[in-house]
This record gives sequence, C-alpha cells and structure tokens, in this order.
Amino acid sequence: MIQAFDTIVVGAGMVGAALALGLGQQGFNVALVDRASPREFQPGAAPDIRVSALSAGSERYLASLGAWPGILAMRATPYQRLAVWDEASSPLRRLLPSRLTEVEFDARRLGASHLGHIVENSITQRALWQAAEAEPGVTLITGHSVRDLSQDHRGARVTLDDDRTLEAQLVVGADGAQSRIRELAGIGVTRDQYQQQAMVISVRYRGAVEDITWQGFYPTGPRAFLPLRPAGDAYPGECWGSLVWYDQPERLAQLKAMNNADLIAELHRQFPERLPELTHIDAKASFPIARQHARHYSQERVVLVGDAAHTINPLAGQGVNLGFQDAQCLQQLLVEARAEQQDIAGLALRQAYEQRRRPANQRMMLAMDLFYHLFSNRIPPLHLARNLGLGAARALPFARNQVARYAMGLDEQLPAPIQGILNRLPRLGGL
Ligand SMILES: Cc1cc2nc3c(=O)[nH]c(=O)nc-3n(C[C@H](O)[C@H](O)[C@H](O)COP(=O)(O)OP(=O)(O)OC[C@H]3O[C@@H](n4cnc5c(N)ncnc54)[C@H](O)[C@@H]3O)c2cc1C
Repeated sequence: MIQAFDTIVVGAGMVGAALALGLGQQGFNVALVDRASPREFQPGAAPDIRVSALSAGSERYLASLGAWPGILAMRATPYQRLAVWDEASSPLRRLLPSRLTEVEFDARRLGASHLGHIVENSITQRALWQAAEAEPGVTLITGHSVRDLSQDHRGARVTLDDDRTLEAQLVVGADGAQSRIRELAGIGVTRDQYQQQAMVISVRYRGAVEDITWQGFYPTGPRAFLPLRPAGDAYPGECWGSLVWYDQPERLAQLKAMNNADLIAELHRQFPERLPELTHIDAKASFPIARQHARHYSQERVVLVGDAAHTINPLAGQGVNLGFQDAQCLQQLLVEARAEQQDIAGLALRQAYEQRRRPANQRMMLAMDLFYHLFSNRIPPLHLARNLGLGAARALPFARNQVARYAMGLDEQLPAPIQGILNRLPRLGGL
C-alpha cells in the first residue's frame, strides 16, 4: 500500500522534527520518518552527552512552534554570559591588555535576560516529537530507515526498510551529515576534514549552576565549558556541566583511555584555571569535525536542510541554529508556493531556497575559521595581517569582537568590512 503525503521529511532530528511540525501547523500533510525510536525522558538521569547552545533566535523559533515550554519543562540551562579568550603562551600575550585577549558578552549589558540556553539534543528532539505527535497533519514514523528513493515529474516515492512506500510532492532530507537521501538523490558534497576532533565530557562539579559558558583557545584547539543544571538531591552542592576539548585525534585517544580520576586531574592541569572543581565524569565521546557543504541544496523533488546540507566546525555552537534557519526559510517558501498554487517542488522555490540559505551558511562556515584564527593566534598576527592586507589589519581589534558576536549567534549580520576580511582569508576557497 502506498501512503500519500504533501511532504516527506526524512530524519526527525532537531531540524527535521521542527520543519515537519511547522509544516503540519500550516496545514501540510507531512510524514516524518526516523530510523531511531523515541527514548523515555527520565527527570533524575544524568544529562545526555550531546548538548547544544541554542541561540535566542532558535529559542524564538521553537517557541513559535509551541515546543519551547516542553523543553523548559524537561531541562534547559540559560546562560547570561559568554567569554572567549586566547590561552596561547605567546610572549605577546603578557604585553597585551586583557581586553584584547578576552571578549566577554553579558546579557545585562545588552538589555536581555539571557544570551541563550544549553539544552541536551535529545530533549529538544523529544519536545518537538511530542508536539509533532499532537499535530494532526504530521504522521511520525519511527524505527524505520529509508531504503530507496525515486522521483519523476509526478512526484517522489520513498521506500522504507519494511517495504512500505510513501509518496509526496516533495522529500526533505533532514537525515544528518551522512544523509542517505542526499546520496540517493545523487547530490555530492565538498568536504574538508579538520585535523582536530572534539571530545565531549559530561561532568559533575562542586558549586552552583554557572551563568557563563566560556572557551579558551590553545594552540592545539579550544577548551570549553557549558553549564548544566543542579545534580539533584543525591549530590547536594553539585551541578552537571559539559566540557569540550578540541585536539589531535591521538591526544584525545590518550585522554579517553585514562581512568576517570586521572582524567579529572588532567582536566584540572590542562583546562583554564576558572574550571570549577570536578567531582565525577559521567561520559566521554569524541567526534570528528568537518566542514562539509552539499554541492546543491536540491535535486528534482528533494531538498536538503540542516546537517544534511552543511556541517560546520562546532567551536561556536552554530550547527543546529543554522539548521533551524534553513527550516524556517523552507517552510515560508512552501507556504507561499502553496498559496500561489505553485508546485511545492518547483524550480523557482528550490532556487529561492538555495539563494537565501547557501550564502548565509557559507558565511558562517568562513566566520568559524576566522573566529578560530583571531583567538588562537595559530597564524602569528603580523603574518595574518600581511595575508589580510593593511586595511584589514587595522580592523583586527574591531574584527575580533564583531566576529565573536556573529559566530556565537549574538548578531545576525557581519559588518561589511569584516565580510571583506572573510573574503581574503587564506585557504578557504572551494566551499
Ligand atoms: C561536538 C559537537 C558539539 C556541537 N555543539 C553544538 C552547539 O552547541 N550548538 C549548535 O547549534 N550545534 C552544535 N553542534 C552541531 C549540531 O549537533 C548539529 O548541527 C545538529 O545536530 C544537526 O541536526 P540535524 O537535525 O540536521 O541532524 P541530526 O541531528 O544528525 O539528525 C538526523 C536524524 O536523521 C535520522 N536518520 C539518519 N539517517 C536516516 C535514514 N536513512 N532513515 C531515517 N532516519 C535517518 C537520525 O536518526 C537522526 O535522528 C555540535 C556538533 C558536535 C559534533
């Protein structure tokens, strides 16, 4: 039997689930498919190892979908301050005033209650699934992966691993960085694997919930702290937190092989001094990091969103925030196309989507690299200045602050002079 829908969204991660929910609310008949099955939420359990900093823009989007209260009812930690600084042991560092080596943003100075929230990915996903399940326009199909895809001028068909066939005008690939839909549609990628990997460590620490998320840039990569909630009655006076250590894969393998007591000692030796006193390590995992961009965001009746379309260096935590922007943009275009009685997989819509989202995603990819270079001093400042040109060199102190604001999701636009710097940054062609 063939089940017919307006749209099939493959991948019910944070981005796919948000898009399907939004489309369902706009009266579309949507199938939302994921190979994973939902996990129960356990209030007292240790946090999931995968967490994301959600920007104020993402919070507004999730609130507009009605999913934000569900996230808050489970767990989310607001942060009021955000700091980044250079930990490079360069002789220059001691000569520079700290305002040049450290940048701190404070919500109070920006007239806001908070800068963003740290949320476990599974909680954002669960809140979206709950809302999607309550939405009559959305059919959630979990525990099944996509086996095949075919498309022609009449429509697209997706075959699942239980031989079920779904049919729709449009298929959205929201199935992550290794997207099967992207592969089945024959869309290639450009990919640049960073030499570093990211190791995430779930920890408990002594002290109150921190109101700050921070990141120190070392020559081998950044080391970051993200605050989470109190650890509960069983551990009075302790809180959960998430650490991220970027380094060479061999170094991270060495760290992963350590027992927890040795790793805690090493974290205190190697992390910035302001790391709170760690009491326990709950979990650790490392992730390869790559800058990957689909060559096209669509092919006939297939459109890509989120990590299926682009992955970026997670050092400023913008991946899912960009994915949510893709979802919002695509939803708006689909609603407009339907109102004008156009084909929702038509060329005009797909071109408009690509024109709006590709430059924005590309800008953020480039900003990540500039952000990294400006803080880590991997390229000596004079060399960097020479590469960027004299005008850009004069703009560097200004650039540092502006790029950090943009890269961390506080500003939506980069000022034009900084965009000029991005265009001149070496080794970033071919995206
Ligand atoms: C270490 C690290 C830290 C990060 N921190 C942040 C951060 O602080 N802030 C931020 O914004 N981003 C962060 N990111 C990036 C963020 O995690 C991703 O951008 C985000 O998860 C992408 O969401 P998605 O829904 O596009 O894809 P995914 O989360 O990958 O979801 C894809 C979904 O598709 C399903 N699927 C896959 N294949 C199939 C198939 N064949 N059939 C059916 N279903 C399928 C999967 O089960 C999954 O549910 C971080 C990334 C890393 C590696």
